[in-house]
Amino acid sequence: MRDAEVAKCIAAEKRRQNEVLELIPSENLASLDVLEALGSVFNNKYSEGYPGRRYYGGNEFTDAVETLAVERAKLLFGAEHANVQPYSGSPANLEVYFALLEFGDKVMGMSLAEGGHLTHGHKVNFSGRAYNFVQYGVRREDELLDYDEIRRVAEREKPKLLLSGATAYPREIDFKEFAEIAKDCGATSMVDMAHVAGLVAGGVHVSPFPETDVVTTTTHKTLRGPRGAMILCKRAFAERIDKAVFPGLQGGPHEHAIAAKAVCFGEALKPEFKDYARQVVKNAKVLAEELQNRGLRLVSGGTDTHLILVDLTDKKMPGKTAETALDKAGITVNKNMIPFDVRKPWDPSGIRLGTPVLTTRGMKEQEMRVVGELICRAIDSHEDGAELAKIKGDVTELCQQFAFY
Ligand SMILES: *Cc1c(COP(=O)(O)O)cnc(C)c1O
Repeated sequence: MRDAEVAKCIAAEKRRQNEVLELIPSENLASLDVLEALGSVFNNKYSEGYPGRRYYGGNEFTDAVETLAVERAKLLFGAEHANVQPYSGSPANLEVYFALLEFGDKVMGMSLAEGGHLTHGHKVNFSGRAYNFVQYGVRREDELLDYDEIRRVAEREKPKLLLSGATAYPREIDFKEFAEIAKDCGATSMVDMAHVAGLVAGGVHVSPFPETDVVTTTTHKTLRGPRGAMILCKRAFAERIDKAVFPGLQGGPHEHAIAAKAVCFGEALKPEFKDYARQVVKNAKVLAEELQNRGLRLVSGGTDTHLILVDLTDKKMPGKTAETALDKAGITVNKNMIPFDVRKPWDPSGIRLGTPVLTTRGMKEQEMRVVGELICRAIDSHEDGAELAKIKGDVTELCQQFAFY
């Protein structure tokens, strides 16, 4: 790297990733093989179209690598069709809507405020502007999805598409039940498994297949691959999906990212990945228990996944304050809305955390107990700069034993 200024930024970011406890549940650490594919000469190639049907010459090897990614993706998730070209999770979702709906059509999705994603119909997002979204949330008493209520709303509203999947829901989502509800009310079923794809691949979360019609996922979250996404679907939807991705919404595919997706799927097909996924969930459960034992209230009372949502209302502390204090202690989390939040989206009542990164670094149950203690210490001493600095020392020491890059 001859650009000294950029090299400095990269080196600093690498140091940061090695030295902090990264608990943002949508992040992970990709392998050096994934990063090598991302930094490869496939970056240079234009390959509009699909393998065997390109608008440019010289695509012999992009065809080979994209076919490899497609075949591995199908095998990994038991899908009939895979499109690995979506640039990221958000465009992948819009591509599915564009493929299956007319503007103004009715869709049911989970509201952002209760755990859904912006692209699931939020009013500031294109999805909420272009389509008529009916939003569902969680039940007030236990903060869980209420499948009977979702069925009632679906039967009344008759959406054309029933979407499930979330970005801040700590519990397993019954994708099979959603597919059943969709079928019974004449809707197409769609799952956005961006957060839990790695858990599905590892066999520790129920799979949306074979029941679900169309599934989107990012490849950079629990799946631990390059920043990007893909769409999986039943054969009957393949042609419409492919046309919506290209030429519907995208131009030239990012073949370097597709090569890296192929590497990621290859890694996820190995038996070790099952161990990883199992450990992610085990770690989250132990961390959740530790936080609860130290007096924090968790939304829904715990977790079945990689993700934990903490409600700080009882601590009389906004999520932002906790996020800032934890940052000072070298612990990275994000402030997040909790269901029925009385505070505002930019200043919510909770924090969201997860175990994918720490598990990739090799941490296990024993370390999760320590991490839980460090988190609670930092929250309790959020006004004490000296104590936060001391915690940061402990964090650095722990991190040094689990350097990844
Ligand atoms: C992260 C996420 C997305 C968006 O992915 P980007 O790659 O950030 O565009 C979409 N849906 C869900 C459920 C997500 O968690």
